[in-house]
Parts: sequence; structure tokens; C-alpha cells
Amino acid sequence: MHPLVAAADLVVGAACPGCGTPALRLCRLCGEAVPPDPSTVDPPRQVGVPVVAAGPYSGILRRTVLAWKEQGREPLTAVLACHLAAAVVPLLDDRPAVLVPAPSSAGRWSRRGEDRMGPLVAAAAERIAALDVPVSVRRLLVRTRRVADQTVLGAGGRAANQHASMHAGAVVPERGALVVVVDDVVTTGSTLAEAVRALRVRGHGVAGAAVVAATPAPTARRRSDL
Ligand SMILES: [Zn+2]
Repeated sequence: MHPLVAAADLVVGAACPGCGTPALRLCRLCGEAVPPDPSTVDPPRQVGVPVVAAGPYSGILRRTVLAWKEQGREPLTAVLACHLAAAVVPLLDDRPAVLVPAPSSAGRWSRRGEDRMGPLVAAAAERIAALDVPVSVRRLLVRTRRVADQTVLGAGGRAANQHASMHAGAVVPERGALVVVVDDVVTTGSTLAEAVRALRVRGHGVAGAAVVAATPAPTARRRSDL
């Protein structure tokens, strides 16, 4: 974003997505309220590898992701990169990492979503490198066909929508490096599952997947909807 645009945002009332006080990013209090707290997503979402999320997709963290993704609040990238990096590190066991972004679905936010994930993954990689962990980002995955907007589909529809929709390039990762698929949010896990499938078809071992946030378990979500 151009600096003048960012400044104009503040003038016209950019607000902390957590509490609404004027701020370009999360305010200090909200930042302290949602520190990265990586844990394995439970129950597993049929991804075939461990999935680590830095927090639940709810409250302040959810509002921050939405403000970043849907309103293009670029200064929030640094906040979410901190979370994404925190989710990657537990999967590495002190080994080098190759971060592979999951391609977004077609849909309302797809083009913008692609634009957002690049800087997010790059910023997360910088944070991981600052821990003296060798890390690279490889865009190994591309879509082989158009997929529908996941947000309008149920769990079964999401899986069918994603299945066999990706193709992985054949770049050989660095020796000893662990491939980790990264995305912003995991819901049913169908996007991550397809990413893992496509990578395995090309012979890439996948150590796990890391995301900023995980939605509540599908059963819990249904219950809360009642
Ligand atoms: Zn706040």
C-alpha cells in the first residue's frame, strides 16, 4: 500500500480490529490479548499431516484476519505473520523449512487473497529466519481447475470442490528441509488436504500444515449454530 493511502486510512478512521480504537494495527491491549498460542488442531481435519494453528478463529484474532483479508489492512500482515511463524516452528524440530502457500479458492476474495498471502508468508519466513532456522518459500502449488468459493459450501461440498484441483511443481527442496503447507485459516481442512495430496503425488514429503487460526471443530460449530 502506498504510504499516503495508509496515512489516509488513519485520517478516515482506521481502527484496531479488536476493539475499534483508532489504530493502523492491533492496539497494544488487543495484541497482548491474542498472543500466538500454537497447538495442534483438534480434532484432526482429515488433512493427513499434523495441522498447527496459532489460535482459534474467533474474537479478536478472527476480526484481525477479516480486516486483513477483506479490507486489505496491510499493516496487520506483521501481526498475522507473527502468528503464522509461531504455528510453523513447532513442526520443524530444528530442521530447515520450505513453506508452501496453499493457493486460494476462486471467489470473492481470491484475487486479493492471493495478493495478501504472498506478503504474509514472506513476513512469516523472515520471523522464522530470525530464529536462525533456515527457511525458504516455494510456490509449488497451482490450481489445475477453477474451484468455487469455499465459504458458501458445507464440509462435503468443500472436499469435493477441492479434490484434484491442485498441481505441485517438481522443485527439489533443500536437503533435510521439511515441507510445511501454510494458509491463513483452516475450516474443514479440505484445502490443506488437497495441497498435501498434490505435493505427495510429486514425491514431496509433507511434515505438516500451519495456519494463523482454526475454526472451532465442525461438531462444536454446528452445536453453537443451533
Ligand atoms: Zn484494540
